[in-house]
Amino acid sequence: MIDHKIGFIGLGNVGSKLANNILQADYNLFIYDLNKSTSNELVNKGAVWKNSVKEIVDNTSLIITCLPSPQAVTEVVESKLGMIENINNKHLWIEMSTTDEKEMIRLSKLIESKGANVLEAPVTGGQHRAESGNISVLTAGKRENFDRAFPILSEIGFQVLYCGKLGNASTLKVATNYLASINLLSIGEALMVCKKYGIDLKSAYHGIRISSGNSFVHETESQVILNGSYDVGFTMDLACKDVGLFDKLTDKFNIPAAISKLMNKIFNEGLEKYGKRSFSTSIVKILEEQCNVNLRASDFPSQLIDYEPRKKGIEIKF
Ligand code: NAD
Repeated sequence: MIDHKIGFIGLGNVGSKLANNILQADYNLFIYDLNKSTSNELVNKGAVWKNSVKEIVDNTSLIITCLPSPQAVTEVVESKLGMIENINNKHLWIEMSTTDEKEMIRLSKLIESKGANVLEAPVTGGQHRAESGNISVLTAGKRENFDRAFPILSEIGFQVLYCGKLGNASTLKVATNYLASINLLSIGEALMVCKKYGIDLKSAYHGIRISSGNSFVHETESQVILNGSYDVGFTMDLACKDVGLFDKLTDKFNIPAAISKLMNKIFNEGLEKYGKRSFSTSIVKILEEQCNVNLRASDFPSQLIDYEPRKKGIEIKF
């Protein structure tokens, strides 16, 4: 089945960018968010606002959700006027939120009981890559649902991985975010040692960038930390959700993951101190305050821009 009418629910920092990519590819886009003001820019570009999840379901065949928490996803699926009411065998639901694998599987069974189809497809690579259409997409579910979704996914992102049964993509996504979060915390400590030693932080940034300690997080998030804006387009509430979801998995499998426990504690302190909508990168402020030293350097941008040209997505095969 070819889908021409696409619904998008959840137009936040990253959701709005993903929705915009669909619009740029000339699909008919129908949008909904609890907060209507998030839709203004997309409506000006041709998207159609709908007043409820149910109206999205009624007007589309493919529905994408990009929501801040498993609770929000449950609400969108199960509440009155939610997806469950009118979804049927013409529909494909693509879940792009970073969510709880167990809840994902439970909700997918409900949706499938209505004859509809489900694919999970969380994204990874940050807001700047969401904006440029170069974000990575991890997908799982029935292969035929992946094949149906691919034309849309290849407009939203660049590297698209299919990794098997439902639950796999959500698990992989929280595992990779766990690694990114550890990186972020350790970058704060590494830069602080350099600064205390008297190394200019611009040199430190580039020294790390060309050496074995380099990482995606360093190349991107370190820049907005050094600038002082911390503006990475990803907020502390979401970071806490993600490290919490990873920790839940370590408990599920009785893995004595000491780093995960410590990291959850630190991120929850960050949430308490700086608030839900502070940027996740603000977590290094804890160290900056403890040391009474800031990690600033000149010539770093306040926001990240992906300078890679927009490319049509490809499936990663191995
Ligand atoms: P966000 O918090 O900026 O936005 C979430 C949006 O969902 C808000 O506009 C909110 O009003 C809306 N919403 C909440 N509950 C709703 C409901 N019941 N019905 C309709 N709309 C509702 O989040 P974001 O940064 O766009 O991230 C969305 C998802 O993508 C999260 O699961 C996040 O972990 C994941 N993600 C984010 C990034 C990033 O860089 N921001 C990157 C990869 C993945």
